[in-house]
Amino acid sequence: MEFKDIRLFLFDMDGTLYLGEQLFDFTKDMLAAIRASGREYRFLTNNSSRDVGAYVEKMARLGVASVPEDFITSAHATIHYLRQHHPGARLYLCGTQALKHQFEDAGFSVPQDVENTDVIALGLDTELTFRKLEDICKLLAAHPDMPYIATHPDLVCPTEFGSVPDCGSVIEMLEHATGKRPVVIGKPQPLIAELAMQSLGVTAAQTAVVGDRLYTDIACGINAGTTSVLVLTGETTPEMLEKSDTKPDLVLQSGAEILEALRKEAEQYGG
Ligand SMILES: [Mg+2]
Repeated sequence: MEFKDIRLFLFDMDGTLYLGEQLFDFTKDMLAAIRASGREYRFLTNNSSRDVGAYVEKMARLGVASVPEDFITSAHATIHYLRQHHPGARLYLCGTQALKHQFEDAGFSVPQDVENTDVIALGLDTELTFRKLEDICKLLAAHPDMPYIATHPDLVCPTEFGSVPDCGSVIEMLEHATGKRPVVIGKPQPLIAELAMQSLGVTAAQTAVVGDRLYTDIACGINAGTTSVLVLTGETTPEMLEKSDTKPDLVLQSGAEILEALRKEAEQYGG
């Protein structure tokens, strides 16, 4: 049984549990089966543009009950990193008001003032302006060694109609102008998965990272030492998998195969 030793499933969201506003038909039953088996799950997202309340609302809209503790975002991981490496830092943020409030609630000031900045931070900025890009270029020109971080490296963000540029595309744009690349915190770095494992007291050997994107989700699982499970319900096609050097431990057509495995296990053990 593939998931016998797994106690914690860490799910990517878009492309794994739903597509845009469309919940996959297996998602509710799969999540219920995980908890019914005595296991746990958490939702991991690199999207730093919204606060957790917005995800609870979205999941409710799609028919899945959740609580804020079910979610770990790249913003959480970035706050953890900032507390460890740059406590009390004043941030210049290229990100949304929702992200700004999360940093402020965590005790960081975000004056958005090039004269009063210790750390530059990028997130998915759906409120991006040229002014912010120019200010970051000014900061990196004046202080080439200023700490510069990004919540996540995703190049694009899926939408109902296709994709829009994500944080990774802004990283590229700024690299063209400044020659600098930020320290990236979210998936594929292991920190976001490690925070979930620590909060539940489980080991990497007891954890599976499940997602649809090779260079973030699967790479995160590999970097964190967990089982990595690719689902083909989102971005990755079998051709992309074939060409990639990032190889998941398991490849599933969809999360329905996790549900199926848990049902078989319950039958076998009378659970
Ligand atoms: Mg995804």
